[in-house]
Amino acid sequence: MRHPVELKGKPASDGIFTGPICFLSSAAAERRASGDPAIERRAFDEAVALAVAGLASLTETAEGEAAEMLAFQIALLEDDALLEPARSLIAQGRPADLAWRKTVDAEIVGYEMSDDDYFRARAADLKDMRDRVLRQLSGQDTHQAQAGAILIGDDVPPSLFLEADWSQGGAIALSQGSPSSHVAILARSRGIPMVVGLGDIVSNGHAEAVIDGASGLLVLSPDGAQKRLWSKKAGELAAQRERDALFLDKPARLKDGSRIELLINVAGADELDHLDSGHCDGIGLMRSEFLFRDGKPLPDEEMQYQAYRRFLEWAGEKPVTIRTLDIGGDKPITGLTPEGERNPFLGLRGIRLTLEREDVFITQLRALARAAVHGNLKIMVPMITVASELAQTATLLDRVMADLARQGSEAKRPPLGIMVEVPAVAVAPELLAAADFFSIGSNDLTQYVMAAARDETSVASLSDPAHPAVLRLIENVARYGREHDIPVSLCGDMASEPRHLKALIAAGLRTLSVSPASIARVKAALAEIG
Ligand code: PEP
Ligand code: MG
Repeated sequence: MRHPVELKGKPASDGIFTGPICFLSSAAAERRASGDPAIERRAFDEAVALAVAGLASLTETAEGEAAEMLAFQIALLEDDALLEPARSLIAQGRPADLAWRKTVDAEIVGYEMSDDDYFRARAADLKDMRDRVLRQLSGQDTHQAQAGAILIGDDVPPSLFLEADWSQGGAIALSQGSPSSHVAILARSRGIPMVVGLGDIVSNGHAEAVIDGASGLLVLSPDGAQKRLWSKKAGELAAQRERDALFLDKPARLKDGSRIELLINVAGADELDHLDSGHCDGIGLMRSEFLFRDGKPLPDEEMQYQAYRRFLEWAGEKPVTIRTLDIGGDKPITGLTPEGERNPFLGLRGIRLTLEREDVFITQLRALARAAVHGNLKIMVPMITVASELAQTATLLDRVMADLARQGSEAKRPPLGIMVEVPAVAVAPELLAAADFFSIGSNDLTQYVMAAARDETSVASLSDPAHPAVLRLIENVARYGREHDIPVSLCGDMASEPRHLKALIAAGLRTLSVSPASIARVKAALAEIG
């Protein structure tokens, strides 16, 4: 029996979970080369064969696009034209892993440079295939996220979170990562406990663990007494959640009865299946980038229209704010976001990128304008820094409306608002007075004000949205909006944290957008604020 090991990290998503652990291997693990070309060649051929076998077994349960992607990878791994350069580098004395990496990386560049969206999107499949063989070469198992387990790794991309099966619960424990990263936001919105910044987590035969998202604790191989203690705490947490749940059906109000508009942040349409629109006042942020999956073809106008329509129909007459594509930063899409930017959070991200890729932007605006006839839609633009970006967006939207009218398509021009998440706008909101509304993105505002990357563990403690500098900017935007009749809300993650609510109300905000998992607890906390 293993001895318990307690590791302390940073809380990223509340909740207690006990279960089996599943290590997510990374391709970068160390491999000792034999120095003998014959041995390296044998290791290489074996790794390729094992990778093909692994892909083939995944094919048995895959359908549609996933099956197509697996078939594409298998075909490549069975193609001598791809394997030959690696084999010849091995014959020249290169270690198998380096030879393979060099060969596939050269192919990846070719795919990334293609003019065709389809081929550019396929570059991610090549990377996946490359890493699968590398993992086999270094003796690691595949990257599969086991359902109902605590997933342990260095960091996980948002795509892995979205692909994992959370129907049996589960949790995430990361040696690196940050509470402000997008995967942490997803975990909070689904109520999946998560701890980041745990440092090295050595597998060492541990098979089970307890995680406490609120305190940032991971206990590997808990003993009987620890299991009893954590099961008691889980019971208390469940009781607290039941008390909070009494608020779920009621409108959000402060202690004096005054009304707070409480909206929700959503990422994918499947989230709506578990949500009752009666529990909130609408959708304050729909992150549309989650329709755009790395390695998958870009969603076309019809697919986007259907998705947006689904949100509007779910909400009925309540407002639905859909944000235009906010990729770049920690949300790369192969073939769409630039590769090799030295500082992606300060680079071509959000509106900066969509204005460069007018084809992608117009497709999205057309789908939005068509969907707008089905409800109370608002369009929100991310990462706005200067007024000309909003003006250009408005011009494109006018063009889209004129085209749709000419083509006889039913459409409506929704209000056009902006995220306030770049300090330039929060300091001087009057320069963006043309916006129909402001929604404060406290996640990015904090990152840019505090100069602390939201996905960087080492500076996570600086990432404090309650720092007076951030709060002063929030207050500034709220005041400007009040004095000039521009509606202001806040959709960053701080609104989902009861401990920040008093400061947000004091800053003058009366509209908040929170993660669905926190609706009850936020309503309960607001009712205590006088
Ligand atoms: C924000 O920056 O606060 C925000 C809501 O947007 P995202 O977290 O998607 O960048
Ligand atoms: Mg943001």
